[in-house]
Amino acid sequence: MHIDDIFARGRPTFSFEFFPPRNADAWTGLFAEIRRFTDLSPDFVSVTYGAGGSTREKTHELVVRVREETPLDPIPHLTCVCHTRDEIHRILSAYARHNISNVMALGGDPPRGQECDPGDFPHASDLVQAIVEFNRAGLHPDSRGFGIGVAGFPEGHPATPNRIAELDYLRRKVDAGAHYICTQLFFDNRDFFDFRERCAISGITVPIVAGLMPILSLQSFRRTPELALGARYPAELLRRMQRCSNDQEIAATGMEWTLAQCRELIREGVDGIHFYTLNRSTATEEIFRSLSDVRRGAIS
Ligand SMILES: Cc1cc2nc3c(=O)[nH]c(=O)nc-3n(C[C@H](O)[C@H](O)[C@H](O)COP(=O)(O)OP(=O)(O)OC[C@H]3O[C@@H](n4cnc5c(N)ncnc54)[C@H](O)[C@@H]3O)c2cc1C
Repeated sequence: MHIDDIFARGRPTFSFEFFPPRNADAWTGLFAEIRRFTDLSPDFVSVTYGAGGSTREKTHELVVRVREETPLDPIPHLTCVCHTRDEIHRILSAYARHNISNVMALGGDPPRGQECDPGDFPHASDLVQAIVEFNRAGLHPDSRGFGIGVAGFPEGHPATPNRIAELDYLRRKVDAGAHYICTQLFFDNRDFFDFRERCAISGITVPIVAGLMPILSLQSFRRTPELALGARYPAELLRRMQRCSNDQEIAATGMEWTLAQCRELIREGVDGIHFYTLNRSTATEEIFRSLSDVRRGAIS
């Protein structure tokens, strides 16, 4: 379903992110998890893309299998680093043939330790433009073409310390034709509310979906700030984590924190919440089910 129609339902969207598994066992495991995610009836799910095309086939395979084997609505991520115009055209054509309604247009970071030509798209806004051209050429079964998502960074993107310039670049992606923004994960809702307000001041009016992920172990507590560029822990969360003495306590604290974030975001009229699931359903499922009261309130 085109993302405009999903947002037109007039309530916060709920969505989940997966990444393509690396081996056969992990594929079987992910599809078992996907069956549980399906029971939650998310508005859409998204599938990540290894920058530079490192997971190109696997992302495509996962997106098509989710589309054909489940009732879920998959949104493939696509990154521009190291890609040529022809390659992007071929990828979009394949998704159009499979009736994929939306894509997420991202910059992508060059694969670690790998050199690659910057490609035909220096920035995500250039990729958005290419998708819009594809749409205008009438190459998608929906006359509107692909719905387009882009990334936003409530705490700022490290490559652009100038926050005013950063908002200008974000605005450029929206002006080029993006239909919605999905944010980097964040742990302090004040960063999101401030970002949302700064977007409004810049004239950005498309829906902004908040990206969240509960911390479930000491390992994820340590790795998340490195993997999620720009994400920081607020002092209060650090204080609570400091009191935990094992993974079980960390998981309970992390879940409680994310649940509180969700409740406040919904109360404050968020357009949608996107869970970075790391391909595991248990925590997301628990948080999602605990929200049934506020979700009902937001719908009515
Ligand atoms: C929701 C979400 C999903 C993601 N999924 C993936 C994924 O599947 N695969 C993956 O590899 N990565 C993914 N990422 C990470 C993302 O690709 C990187 O963080 C990347 O560094 C930034 O991507 P972008 O789309 O914001 O790029 P861009 O919009 O191109 O921005 C990148 C940097 O360039 C700056 N910039 C933009 N335009 C200009 C300009 N005209 N002149 C100068 N500077 C400019 C921006 O301010 C920013 O600092 C995801 C991030 C998010 C938030």
